[in-house]
Amino acid sequence: MSTKSADATPESSTAAAPAARSLKDRGNLYEVAQQQVDRAADAIKLDPDVRCILSQPKNELITNFPVRLDDGRIHLFKGYRIQHNNVMGPFKGGMRYHQEANLDEMKALAAWMTYKCALSDIPFGGGKGGIKMNPKDYSKGELERITRRFTHALGSNIGPEWDIPAPDVGTGEQTMVWMMDTYMNIVGQTERNSVRRIVTGKSVTCGGSHGRREATGMGVVHCISEWVRDSNFRLDGCHFMVQGFGNVGSHAALLLSKMGAALVGVGDETGYIANPEGINPHKLMDHTRKGGGVAGYRGAKAISRSEFFGLEADIFIPAALELEIGEDEARLLRCKLVAEGANGPTYPEAEKILLDRGIFVIPDILANAGGVVVSYYEWLQNKRSERWDLTEVHQRLERRMRRTYDAVRQYARQTGFDWRTACYGIALERLQNSYLERGIFP
Ligand code: NAD
Repeated sequence: MSTKSADATPESSTAAAPAARSLKDRGNLYEVAQQQVDRAADAIKLDPDVRCILSQPKNELITNFPVRLDDGRIHLFKGYRIQHNNVMGPFKGGMRYHQEANLDEMKALAAWMTYKCALSDIPFGGGKGGIKMNPKDYSKGELERITRRFTHALGSNIGPEWDIPAPDVGTGEQTMVWMMDTYMNIVGQTERNSVRRIVTGKSVTCGGSHGRREATGMGVVHCISEWVRDSNFRLDGCHFMVQGFGNVGSHAALLLSKMGAALVGVGDETGYIANPEGINPHKLMDHTRKGGGVAGYRGAKAISRSEFFGLEADIFIPAALELEIGEDEARLLRCKLVAEGANGPTYPEAEKILLDRGIFVIPDILANAGGVVVSYYEWLQNKRSERWDLTEVHQRLERRMRRTYDAVRQYARQTGFDWRTACYGIALERLQNSYLERGIFP
């Protein structure tokens, strides 16, 4: 099916199933991350000392900082920065603004960054951070003051050769520009321009890289294209669905639609919608920009979360928050492929069900690495005072995504491991080699 007929009114659909859980009811994310690592560590017989070092983050910083709100009151915010590991290079990872942000979530997300960078062979380690708050509750002026005060509170705990933040859920280019500007004003004026690479994911105007905005979604689509080649499948005319229509989900949807696939279901925190004739992602992006979410979009029918998981589609891209695919959702899904745009969207028990049902899973640390790959390119461009054009960034991203996908493909074939274990196997071997050569100080 082409997207020409997009946005015709769909038939109604029926299904029954699970309601969304709040993050705190989804279990401990760090334990889930640890289970994934342990499985691979057992499989490759990881050195016990290396396992011990990697089992906890190097540094866990929590800061409570005050900000004056528009009504004159002072509110105390809780900010996090977790630095998991830096044996391969500076800590690197996003800043998340979310009302349910918590320490174990941050620890898991930071650890995943360590393995993601090692798997993609990027000379960075893993970090993550953010603020426990709903950014939608604050004005632009308040968000600026919150971001600047948080950056100031982090002070020398971040740095262009030490720990480099990037956007994540609830943050974006504007947040990164405020962080950069604050940091540039903390250091002496002669150093100011040399620290521009303190954050990545900035606007192009302020020193960001061309191609960073769409990088994660584009990387997901490169992985899907590789799977398509291996599976003798055709993207043109196939159906796909996306959960989360923010940075990652919307760009993945735009690119897949351009390749002839039809977006038949979308969900976000405002609701779920479906149209078997196809949803036009450009129009949906316009709608979400104005309305704050997919709910109320006129080119599709509102459905429940459980109806969404039961939709008839070939490809599912989770691109919202973690632990969205539990055992119930795994049984409902009717797709052939789950390409994890989000970090940690699948419970280990659910993944087992998907694999048993013959549904292929492209794991997060492979599928969503495009963001950190282009963040690395942004950091390099800032460091060298260079500006690469869009074509160059896109070509480099595609080469690296396909090369990493191929490395996992070969490793999985040689070892017989499932793909998630193969991804961690490669990453852990690289980290282990580094530790075994360097030893630890003193
Ligand atoms: P975003 O803030 O731009 O978008 C998040 C989307 O998820 C929004 O559409 C939001 O409405 C939706 N959402 C939030 N809560 C939801 C819920 N309970 N149910 C359904 N939908 C919900 O964030 P993003 O940058 O697109 O990140 C999405 C995921 O991708 C996260 O897991 C993030 O860690 C991961 N990721 C992002 C990047 C990046 O470059 N931005 C890179 C790698 C991984």
